Amino acid sequence: MKSSEGGRSKCVTNGTETSQALWGRAWKVDWFSLACVIFLLLFAPLIVYYFIMACDQYSCSLTMPAVELFTGKVHLSDIWNKTPPLTWKAAALYTSWITFQVVLNMLPDFCHKLIPVFRGGVQEGAVTPAGIVLKYEINGLQAWLITHALWLANAYYFHWFSPTIIFDNWIPLLWCANILGYLVSIFVRIKASYFPSNANDCKFTGNFFYDFMMGVEFNPRIGKWFDFKLFFNGRPGIVAWTLINLSYAAKQQELYGQVTNSMILVNILQALYVVDFFWNETWYLKTIDICHDHFGWYLGWGDCVWLPYLYTLQGLYLVYHPVQLTTGSAVGILLLGLVGYYIFRVTNHQKDLFRRTNGNCKIWGKKPKYIECSYVSADGTKHYSKLLTSGFWGVARHFNYTGDLMGSLAYCLTCGFEHILPYFYIIQLTILLVHRCIRDEHRCSSKYGKDWKRYTNEVPYRLFPGFF
Ligand code: NDP
Repeated sequence: MKSSEGGRSKCVTNGTETSQALWGRAWKVDWFSLACVIFLLLFAPLIVYYFIMACDQYSCSLTMPAVELFTGKVHLSDIWNKTPPLTWKAAALYTSWITFQVVLNMLPDFCHKLIPVFRGGVQEGAVTPAGIVLKYEINGLQAWLITHALWLANAYYFHWFSPTIIFDNWIPLLWCANILGYLVSIFVRIKASYFPSNANDCKFTGNFFYDFMMGVEFNPRIGKWFDFKLFFNGRPGIVAWTLINLSYAAKQQELYGQVTNSMILVNILQALYVVDFFWNETWYLKTIDICHDHFGWYLGWGDCVWLPYLYTLQGLYLVYHPVQLTTGSAVGILLLGLVGYYIFRVTNHQKDLFRRTNGNCKIWGKKPKYIECSYVSADGTKHYSKLLTSGFWGVARHFNYTGDLMGSLAYCLTCGFEHILPYFYIIQLTILLVHRCIRDEHRCSSKYGKDWKRYTNEVPYRLFPGFF
């Protein structure tokens, strides 16, 4: 195993693929993957625009704009002319926001010193396909706390800006987020060819679109600590998520003189998810995003645009449709969200604990059961690992996804049943997690070979025992 060092040599192309471990991302791009890549490159930005425009101009109806366009009642130009343009104010806001998050990202972590149970500070990631272990400064919780403390201080004391500022500039900010998403994706693609951080962890498939979208460099970095994947996955989108929801709640207050219980539920359930993410940022280093995905448009643009705009649709919807739930519905939704969160958290914790202690732990009060497995990294080193088959990992192979889906359904249910738009989250997350599950299992199967087969025989279902 090697430690991280910022290499300056060129990335290895697929001409030398035999010298690389084969368990990373695809080497050959089949026509279906290519069609999906081109579809997403072309349509994902339009989908985001369509949703946000539908809220702005059609009170969150997804069908009305389409019907009016097809019947000729409006033209594309009418919709476009009513769309707020990029403004200097939004550009200044967005630039300050990103700069502030970069500064917070570069600060050393103090939280783990103040809160001893919190695992922050310098932590190691997983072994990369090239056999490298990178170090990360884990300070996301600190960044989240500072950002939100300042937000609340402004809202209740300083009054420098209105707490509705995000909602009020939502479409102009969308243009800024797109500009950053594309700039970052183009930059990392060029960087991968000319100055990669770790040449042996690059993957060129030879297909321009696939490489641009799925990324070439595994862990692009600037300097020792600015890691593109950790920063973009966590900071601009996930720190913003709770601020965006607070801004929506403030807008409801401004428009209707009260904040509905549905809006409070969305804020609480999604804040739980976000704080959990930062509290467990060290665990996040061992997830697929960091361990296996390369950094390209999918993560770069996705984190800047898709995540903040489409993961927050419930709060946006509730500004236009302030749903007041009955107490029974509110309690039912809260319970669904909490049970989903519990399954999500405990499942993730079981794997993390099991891997961290190398199996020397208790799962549901007993010694864990597992399957011994091995794999070879690109430098030819043989590594040993274990696949847990106790606890929730014995129920299904991705029960953490099942919990995540239950929690996500709870967010959507807060919005009632009048429109489909707030349900987009659960629909897209189901597609994303099912696809991710299949993608991950394909990778694990190439990585662990017959050991993976033994594991799938022992735990036959992926998400829902007896069904899938
Ligand atoms: P997992 O945390 O489930 O990680 C999968 C990896 O864990 C595998 O690649 C394998 O890696 C290892 N693994 C698989 N089975 C076992 C086992 N039985 N015992 C030990 N290790 C095992 O997946 P993700 O990273 O995708 O997800 C992490 C969380 O993030 C999930 O809860 C998911 O719901 C959530 N998520 C949320 C998203 C959202 O948009 N809201 C998007 C994506 C994820 P190895 O090579 O190390 O063996």
